[in-house]
Amino acid sequence: MKRIYLDYAATTPAAPAVVEAMLPFFSGVFGNPSSTHAFGKEARDAVEKARETLAHFIGAKPQEIVFTSGGTESNNTALKGIALANRNRGNHIITSSIEHHSITESCAFLEKNGFSVTYLPVDREGFVSPDEVRKHISRKTILLSLMHANNEIGTLQPIAEIASIAKAEGIYFHTDAVQTFGHLPVEVESLHLDLLSVSAHKLYGPKGVGALYVRSGTRISPFLHGGTQERGRRASTHNVPGIVGFGKAVEIARADAFNEGKRLVPMRDRLIRGILERVRHACLNGHPSKRLPGNVNVSFRGVEGELVLLSLDKKGIACSTGSACSAESTGPSHVLLALGLPHDLVAGSLRLTLGKFTREEEIDSVLEVLPAVVEEIRSLSFFEA
Ligand SMILES: *Cc1c(COP(=O)(O)O)cnc(C)c1O
Repeated sequence: MKRIYLDYAATTPAAPAVVEAMLPFFSGVFGNPSSTHAFGKEARDAVEKARETLAHFIGAKPQEIVFTSGGTESNNTALKGIALANRNRGNHIITSSIEHHSITESCAFLEKNGFSVTYLPVDREGFVSPDEVRKHISRKTILLSLMHANNEIGTLQPIAEIASIAKAEGIYFHTDAVQTFGHLPVEVESLHLDLLSVSAHKLYGPKGVGALYVRSGTRISPFLHGGTQERGRRASTHNVPGIVGFGKAVEIARADAFNEGKRLVPMRDRLIRGILERVRHACLNGHPSKRLPGNVNVSFRGVEGELVLLSLDKKGIACSTGSACSAESTGPSHVLLALGLPHDLVAGSLRLTLGKFTREEEIDSVLEVLPAVVEEIRSLSFFEA
C-alpha cells in the first residue's frame, strides 16, 4: 500500500542533506564544544556556524540565540524565565486561549506560583483582536505571548501589530513561531520581537533541538541551571549533531526562499474546496486565506474525527485530529472550543497538513477516499441531517 503523509504540522522528515551534515558529528568530530582543546574547538566552530546561520535568517545577532531541546523548552524558558526575572516589576502575563500546550501548561504552572494570566479570547476564525490586548494590559503586565501561527487551524496572527502595542507599553513580547519558522518570513525587527521560539523538526531538521531568540538586554532567568554554556542561559552539553542539522535545515529553507509555501497554497486550497464540495455537512475551521500554506482543518457533522482518522490510517492516509499532542489525551481541542464551535463540530474535526513531499496525486487520493469514509461512519452512527 502506498502511504500518504499529511501530518507535516506534527513533524517533518529530516532532509537527506541535514542527515548528511549531522553524521560526522556523532563520532568523528565528537568533542565537547566547551572544551579548550582542538577537539572542543572543532565542535564549537560547528555550533557557532549554525548559530550564525540561524541568527542571520531572522535578523538577529548570534549572541541572541540560545539553543534548546526544542519548541517546548524554548516556550517554557521564555515564560518561566521572564516571569521569574521580572517578578519585581509585576506578576501579570497575557496570552491567548489557543496557544500550544507548552505555553498554556507553563502559564498554568505560573498561576499556581503567584502569577496571574489572562487568556485572550479569539474570534470564530482564531484571531486575537489588538483592542482586546490593549484592554487587558495593566501596570503589572510583564509579558505578552502570542503564537505566530496556530498549529491546529493554521490561523496567522497579526503579530507585528500586537507586538508594537506591547513595545509601546514596555512589555516583553514573545511569539511561538514553531509553525511558521522556515515556512514564512520571521524577522525579529519588523515583527518587534523580544523572544521567539523555534524548533528544528518542523522544518525538515532533526527532533530534539530548537532555539530561543532573546533580544539583548532582556531580563530572563535560565531554565536549566548548571554549567555556563550558552552564556549561562542554558546549561548542559550542546547537542552538536542536532544543532548542526538545525543549521543545515535553516540553510535549505533560506535557499528555498519560501517557494515550498507558494507551491502548497494552491494544493491546500484545492483540498479544502474538494472536501467542502464532496463531503456533506463539512465546514472549514480557521480563515480561508490567512492560514499556514500547508494547513487544512475541517469539521464534519455527525462523525467523530478520531474515527475518520483511524479509517484513513487503515487506507494508508496519515493525518490528525487537532494537534499530535492531543492524540493521546483525546480530550476535545481547546483551540476549536475557543473558536466557539458547537461540540459536534469540535469532535468531528480533522487536520491534514501538507509539506515538501506532498504531490497533487495524493490530494486526488484523499478527495477520492474521504467522502466515502465519512459517509460510512455516518451510516453506522445513524446520522441524519
Ligand atoms: C510542535 C510545536 C511546539 C513544540 O515543539 P517541540 O520541538 O516538538 O517541543 C510548540 N509550539 C508549536 C506551535 C508547535 O507546533
